[in-house]
Amino acid sequence: MNKPRSAIPSVDAVLRAPGAEALIEGHGRTALTDAVRQAAEDLRHDLSDDSDTGEAAVLNAAGEILAGWASSSLKPVFNLTGTILHTNLGRAPLPPEAIEAMARVGAGASNLEYDLAAGRRGDRDVHLEDRLCRLTGAEAATVVNNNAAAVLLCLNSLALRREALVSRGELIEIGGSFRIPDIMARAGARLREVGTTNRTHTKDFAAALGPKTGLVMQVHTSNYTIQGFTAAVATRDLAALAHDHGVPLFVDLGSGTLADLRAYGLPYEPTAQEALAAGADVVSFSGDKLLGGPQAGIMVGNAECIDRIRRNPMKRALRVDKMTIAALHTVLGFYGDPDSLVERVPALRLLARPKADIQAQAARLAPILDGVLDATVDVVDCQSQAGSGSLPDSEIPSAGLAISPKGGKRAVKALAERFRRLPVPVIGRVQDGILVLDLRGLDDEAGFIAQLDHLTGDGVP
Ligand SMILES: *Cc1c(COP(=O)(O)O)cnc(C)c1O
Repeated sequence: MNKPRSAIPSVDAVLRAPGAEALIEGHGRTALTDAVRQAAEDLRHDLSDDSDTGEAAVLNAAGEILAGWASSSLKPVFNLTGTILHTNLGRAPLPPEAIEAMARVGAGASNLEYDLAAGRRGDRDVHLEDRLCRLTGAEAATVVNNNAAAVLLCLNSLALRREALVSRGELIEIGGSFRIPDIMARAGARLREVGTTNRTHTKDFAAALGPKTGLVMQVHTSNYTIQGFTAAVATRDLAALAHDHGVPLFVDLGSGTLADLRAYGLPYEPTAQEALAAGADVVSFSGDKLLGGPQAGIMVGNAECIDRIRRNPMKRALRVDKMTIAALHTVLGFYGDPDSLVERVPALRLLARPKADIQAQAARLAPILDGVLDATVDVVDCQSQAGSGSLPDSEIPSAGLAISPKGGKRAVKALAERFRRLPVPVIGRVQDGILVLDLRGLDDEAGFIAQLDHLTGDGVP
């Protein structure tokens, strides 16, 4: 026998219960009314003899529903996966100066598209173009929402209903279903594959170039490498060939960077200025990969091509907002001074952190974690990576904590979940029945320690 539905109190009765006023003050009467209805509905669904149908119980349930509605599902986490530019974890952390710049323009009106000198309508690209041109040597520059959008826009602007030539070795999938052949079809360009998977020569491109060609494209194979018996055409040779036939060369650098990362002990990654110097007409790259800025797709190149891109009506649909412009402008400014670059761009600072620093941090944290967990905690060597297809070949020596709880695989899974349920979730990596926290990504050590007592016993929220 179940309790009758009539046992469930009315919404009005619950709203008169002690504690309702406080919830109304915090969330508003409308929201509380909705939450009480929801709580009553939930109760009706699994009503049994044991159900507590008192006003206080329903109000309590409504309070929990309200708390759920009020909390954002998007929140900061500790990325201790060892992949610094993790696409699923929001890629590059922004410098505080960039966040301040976003707050400044976000709070009110700005001259986003207003020419202050002339007193009339302006162009949002002007805020970034000077900096991008000075840093890369380009004649012109424009920016869209992300690099996928930049590739789509370049292809649509420069190769609509014409052939776009790409080496078969560069027909890549980036992840998140971004595939060069698919994006090309959607952009309205006709893919013409050139050469073979492992070897493509200048003469292959020469044979494919013809009256139907609109564009030659080169793609940085971000997330994989071809090894062994291989050949690819150098950007310089491809540019010369394309120009002989009167068509532009577009280089999708993927991550791309504006600095020689070898100066900071990091592996080499092609720069936008190198691609331009080699003759590329347009070069595109991401704002939030190795550049360390906000999500954006940056295009630099010659004035004629960039102008064609800018005049494409699709540009309007892909443009960046004022906050992105503010943050990107700030980050680009840091590239003007290579000496302080790594200190000021958090993504680069994390990638360049010396292993000894990370080891020392691991040694500080190991006994603390040992104290709160019923598990063995060891300092171990790790291999971090840049992520997002940046520096694809390279593993960066790092250090971290290997946590092995008693109770095997199931206990490790449960422990990883407890870390993910912390107020600021901690995301590690489970491998071979051990939870590994690669500490290369840990900037806020105090914040990490401060919430560890939530891990003990049932104290997990
Ligand atoms: C990452 C990447 C893209 C997509 O860039 P997003 O900024 O993620 O949109 C495109 N091309 C290449 C080669 C990439 O590595």
